[in-house]
Amino acid sequence: MSQEFEEQSHHADAICPYCLSSYQVESEDYSEDIREEECEECGNTYWIEQSFSVETTTKPDCELNGASHKWELMTFADGKSAFFCSVCNECSLVADDGTPLAEKSKGEAE
Ligand SMILES: [Zn+2]
Ligand SMILES: [Zn+2]
Repeated sequence: MSQEFEEQSHHADAICPYCLSSYQVESEDYSEDIREEECEECGNTYWIEQSFSVETTTKPDCELNGASHKWELMTFADGKSAFFCSVCNECSLVADDGTPLAEKSKGEAE
């Protein structure tokens, strides 16, 4: 069997700084505060502090600001084309009549 790599982001093993034994922190114990932890292996007490990285992505959107997208038709090397907004970079497929499909689906939803 080939080795597979699994996503490890939900794993939060604590490793004892004294004996290097690791254990999995129970999810209900999660806290961003530093606290004392006693090692079950060697009995030493150490500080444990967990941090969670938060990824924040921001994205502009003309419509959020009450403006219309400035669609520009871009044609790719393979001959396909799509609309891209020159302001917020929103993209849209091209409808049969050559207008941005995003504008049509929006009309249908209303
Ligand atoms: Zn230990
Ligand atoms: Zn836009």
